[in-house]
Amino acid sequence: MSATLTEEQLRTIAAQYGTPVYVYHAEKITEQYTLLQNAFRKSHTRFFYASKALTNINILRHILSLGCDIDCSSINEVKLALHAGFEKDNILYTSNGIAFSEIEEAVALGVKINIDSLSNLEKFGKKYGHSYPVGIRLRPNIMAGGNLKISTGHEKSKFGIPIEQLDTILALVKENDLFIHALHIHTGSEIKDVSVFMKVAGIFTDLVPHFPEVRFLDLGGGFKVPYKEGESGTDIPLLGQKVAEIIDQLSATHQRSFEAWFEPGKFLVSECGYFITEVNVLKQSGQTHFAGVNSGFNHLIRPMFYDAYHRIQNISNPEGPLRPYTIVGNICETDTFATDRELNEVREGDLLVFYNAGAYGFEMGSNYNSRFKPAQVLVSKDQTWLIGKRDSFEDLLRNQVLVL
Ligand SMILES: *Cc1c(COP(=O)(O)O)cnc(C)c1O
Repeated sequence: MSATLTEEQLRTIAAQYGTPVYVYHAEKITEQYTLLQNAFRKSHTRFFYASKALTNINILRHILSLGCDIDCSSINEVKLALHAGFEKDNILYTSNGIAFSEIEEAVALGVKINIDSLSNLEKFGKKYGHSYPVGIRLRPNIMAGGNLKISTGHEKSKFGIPIEQLDTILALVKENDLFIHALHIHTGSEIKDVSVFMKVAGIFTDLVPHFPEVRFLDLGGGFKVPYKEGESGTDIPLLGQKVAEIIDQLSATHQRSFEAWFEPGKFLVSECGYFITEVNVLKQSGQTHFAGVNSGFNHLIRPMFYDAYHRIQNISNPEGPLRPYTIVGNICETDTFATDRELNEVREGDLLVFYNAGAYGFEMGSNYNSRFKPAQVLVSKDQTWLIGKRDSFEDLLRNQVLVL
């Protein structure tokens, strides 16, 4: 039985904490991590939670308590991970486009690092030589992921070192006596098809003979989770089985033990999250019935940014007749969450819940229109905690410097 929060629980939380509010269910994260553990039992595999999906310190601590490691996309995320209690050996910093000074900081903190440009790789070699193992982030020419905006492996993508530059990489490694312990490829997000990961594994198989010290093959994140009802995600058990075969084969061929690494973000935290909003106004224009909620792309930008689909439910009128609504926000921009979506009849004051709101929801939020970022609530073992306060008016002024 999948861990879910009931509409009754969500209504109670909305009444207690107000709206808009993000709600996270710890047991759902546990369930997702357990699924990974079971599927990859047979292989040496490590999971680094891509923390950019949701960085609330309590979420990080819950993930730590499960025994999961952590992947960071900025030096501040590295510091948050340390603050949450992760050991430096279990922190991975997969950088892209960063100043070399951040890499020096990461070395000083002692965490694992993946480097994504020739220039930083060269600087790294000159400064650390063989003394600090490092991973290389490569960019294959694979088009993968839900759409172009979330695909990172194609030939116009800024991420990673283009694989055609292998000769230059090898020359750099040799010249600076670099200790390359990991190869990294992250092709994008929402990859349903296991064969995409197999293509990456195939590329690693071709590359390994060039890197005699590589032990870790990092296939990035990007597992798909269901957003729509009846939709299915990446076949995790199948992926686990395939990865075990490849790792075994490589270990046998090269007489050293390899380990697969993954960096799931969405997979661990998407489904644990619920975003509860309240309907401010109903408006009709021709055939369109607008339901305007007390939120906008300042709180949940995925529908506008990526055309992402989020399931929405009217939890205040679950028995009401189904009608099509266009759900919009209150920001002075077009911020449409969904067009002509069937909902149980909506009345002003009703609560609309957005599902799959755990990953890249609050985290991509802003104070646009000088609106407050929402409160965040954690539910674990039927206890409820406030884990992020709603902004207050002082927060809007906090970093402003009065000079006039
Ligand atoms: C964003 C990101 C991830 C996580 O992607 P998900 O789709 O959330 O699983 C993993 N690795 C890297 C390098 C990323 O940039």
